[in-house]
Amino acid sequence: MQIKFLDLKAVNQPYFPQFMEATQRFLDSGWYVLGNEVQAFENEYAAYCGTNFCVGVSNGLDALRAIFEGYKILGKLKENDEVIVPANTYIASILAVTQSRLTPVLVEPDPDSYNICPGKIQSAITSRTKAILAVHLYGQLADMDAINDIAKANNLIVVEDAAQSHGAALRNGKKAGNLSNATGHSFYPGKNLGALGDAGAVTTNDAELFEVVKALRNYGSQKKYYNMFEGYNMRLDENQAAWLRIRLKGLDRENDHRRQLALVYNENIKNASVTLPVEKQYGKHVYHIYPILHPNRDALQKYLADHGVQTLIHYPLPPHKQEAFKHWNHLSFPITERIHEQELSLPMSPVHTKEEILTVANLINNFA
Ligand SMILES: *Cc1c(COP(=O)(O)O)cnc(C)c1O
Repeated sequence: MQIKFLDLKAVNQPYFPQFMEATQRFLDSGWYVLGNEVQAFENEYAAYCGTNFCVGVSNGLDALRAIFEGYKILGKLKENDEVIVPANTYIASILAVTQSRLTPVLVEPDPDSYNICPGKIQSAITSRTKAILAVHLYGQLADMDAINDIAKANNLIVVEDAAQSHGAALRNGKKAGNLSNATGHSFYPGKNLGALGDAGAVTTNDAELFEVVKALRNYGSQKKYYNMFEGYNMRLDENQAAWLRIRLKGLDRENDHRRQLALVYNENIKNASVTLPVEKQYGKHVYHIYPILHPNRDALQKYLADHGVQTLIHYPLPPHKQEAFKHWNHLSFPITERIHEQELSLPMSPVHTKEEILTVANLINNFA
């Protein structure tokens, strides 16, 4: 028996006939950069998120960079301003801040949700703080009502990193990507809404930021050969956009499947040493990752591998311990460090079966 962590071919295979059709349409169009497919995807993804605007970009990191650079161009951020970021996140969230020449200030997560702790944001605010980057890690929303309240009281911009949470929503139905000033999305193949290569998007209700980001992704130009600022090439491919339009139609169904599998884990893992993920009452988790904690994580991972179950670790080393951020290596974030020491991501995808998930749960129950 083999249970893969994620079988990307199997995830995409049901869509292959539609992908082939879209590719033929793309080939026949004779227009290969920033055409009808990107425009249509932007309209459809904005409608899905409930925002006024969407700009397709090259990847998730670029989406976040375009937002921060955009706010600098608009005069709402300036070099060295402080941005509060979660200590427990994927490095790309933080690279977007440093590459925009802003200063990240790390804040510990809530120990239940693994997302940035609103109470601790408050005490990290200084006179230089100008923004908060809320990451919806593993598919669960950060506590956006609390975060937006703090931002309002302190006149801060809020940016979401929704790379892992397409379709996650608050109780009132408002979705990730529509819970802040602007949001960066990644459509890296393994994400809940995945392309077949690199892709990303910015969603926002801010018309000014929309215009700036749209220009920034294309050399700072709104009118061909006239450049308003020093922009980038951050364009979303036509072909990726065409495929994403097809995957978007299946996203809610796939997220529901992920939630059903999470329920099977929740109800069947009975090992007292395992900490299960907590779904916060304020929102709907979309289980990009099903993260458990175990004090003897490496041994559990090896035991599962010996029994044919592939797992991953998200992530083995927190940002502040990375070589890339030497100036942070002496800092201590005990909650973050514990998560990184104990986290194990169990198999989870739209194509895993309940039987497979039950097999994994039973194996974990037999791990002493
Ligand atoms: C994947 C990811 C990113 C980066 O997205 P890319 O498309 O790979 O650039 C950013 N933040 C988080 C939380 C991610 O998981």
